Amino acid sequence: MDYEIVIGLEVHCQLLTETKIFCGCSTNFGNLPNQNTCPVCTGMPGALPVLNRKVVDFAIRAGLATDCSIVRENVFARKNYFYPDLPKGYQISQFELPICVGGYLDIEVEDEKKRIGITRIHMEEDAGKLVHPEYEHGVSFVDYNRACVPLIEIVSDPDMRSSAEAVAYLKNMRDIMVYLEVCDGNMEEGSFRCDANISLRRWGAPELGIRAELKNMNSFRNVQRAIDYEVERQSDILDNGGVVVQETRLWNVDRGISMSMRGKEEAHDYRYFPDPDLLPVVIDDFWVDEVRRNQPELPLAKRQRFVVDYGILLTDAEVLTSDRNLADYFEAVVKIFPRPKAIANWIMVELLKFLNDDKIAITQCSITPQGLAELLKLIDKGTISGKIGKQVFAQMYSAADNDPELIVTTKGLAQMSDAGELTGMIDEILAANADKVKEYQDGKSKMFGFFVGQVMKRSKGQANPQMVNELIKERIG
Ligand SMILES: [Zn+2]
Repeated sequence: MDYEIVIGLEVHCQLLTETKIFCGCSTNFGNLPNQNTCPVCTGMPGALPVLNRKVVDFAIRAGLATDCSIVRENVFARKNYFYPDLPKGYQISQFELPICVGGYLDIEVEDEKKRIGITRIHMEEDAGKLVHPEYEHGVSFVDYNRACVPLIEIVSDPDMRSSAEAVAYLKNMRDIMVYLEVCDGNMEEGSFRCDANISLRRWGAPELGIRAELKNMNSFRNVQRAIDYEVERQSDILDNGGVVVQETRLWNVDRGISMSMRGKEEAHDYRYFPDPDLLPVVIDDFWVDEVRRNQPELPLAKRQRFVVDYGILLTDAEVLTSDRNLADYFEAVVKIFPRPKAIANWIMVELLKFLNDDKIAITQCSITPQGLAELLKLIDKGTISGKIGKQVFAQMYSAADNDPELIVTTKGLAQMSDAGELTGMIDEILAANADKVKEYQDGKSKMFGFFVGQVMKRSKGQANPQMVNELIKERIG
């Protein structure tokens, strides 16, 4: 039978603060286990949390970017549950009064625009991590470095109707959070992660079906696969007259299936109550305005500005703004060498090819904006041809040698633009190919290209092609 698919997403973003949400410990990744800990984040009795102001800034930033209302007096709450990686026996989160409510995010799937509601954004702390070493069976360790690392959770309305819509929403959301410098967006390392609530209902049914929650999807591809799998699984159950169980299911990437992890808790199972150790967070207009004033430009606005200011195609602007660092790189080159179209071409045709082949980010690229601008200037001045420019570019990329002028001089790659020298070369070639010259003069006009090719070959690609054309024409008409 055909059902309507209903999907809501919960996104957790790990915030890019230097210290944790309620203590001064570092959030640095990769330190020794339990190196970044203190009595607060290890939940010692009597230790008191103090809120990191930066976390509130980031949450407001995320809220403004998604058109949420900022709740002027929001409250931290304790979410009570037991787990060894949660030493206090509760997680500090927000419940009845989160910091942001009632926003939206626009998505586009197959040219159809759609607005997805955002129920809320709240601030909370992460839990620690259990480590199960392979060398010692039956023993587990706990690492509290991640305990108390700040997160925001962004909860959507159940507005999505397909896995494609869910992926589009996540991609947009990730772009925005990365642009805002709120989160690094890394799905593999778990700093941008999502849970999906999925249910099915008969078309036209007023109430939602029973939902299952999917966890552990660490890439866009896995989100798509996991949702599609879950839709199949639930529709099989419903087709056979069964009832979907409300539960949390883990996506198994290797096997391509989801498995039941535990029955899904209801909010009342957690006995939420306001955290008596933390004051309500009071946010005045001044604070919101300050964050709004410093709000970075978002992907969509940047895209439109690129088209208007630089006169490049929308499709090119989309590629260049797909990554904020790439967009910054482009603009840095334009500042030095104001030929945006040529720069856009070089970045998209040459630079991105190299980066994609090596699977590295623009921030790891050895060619600086300055280096690329200098190279393009050399081509523009006619010192080297575009073709030689590509060679120099490859050299700059692989040798981490950023001075194109030095490469051109030491390798003797400068373009030959000396008319005397070129004429001598052309005369020799024409003399050696007298038969072909005759063919040309008898009307076989495509012979012209042959002569140009010979000159370029003999000059190892360094002859100025425009001059070669003119000089040959002078000689043979
Ligand atoms: Zn700490």
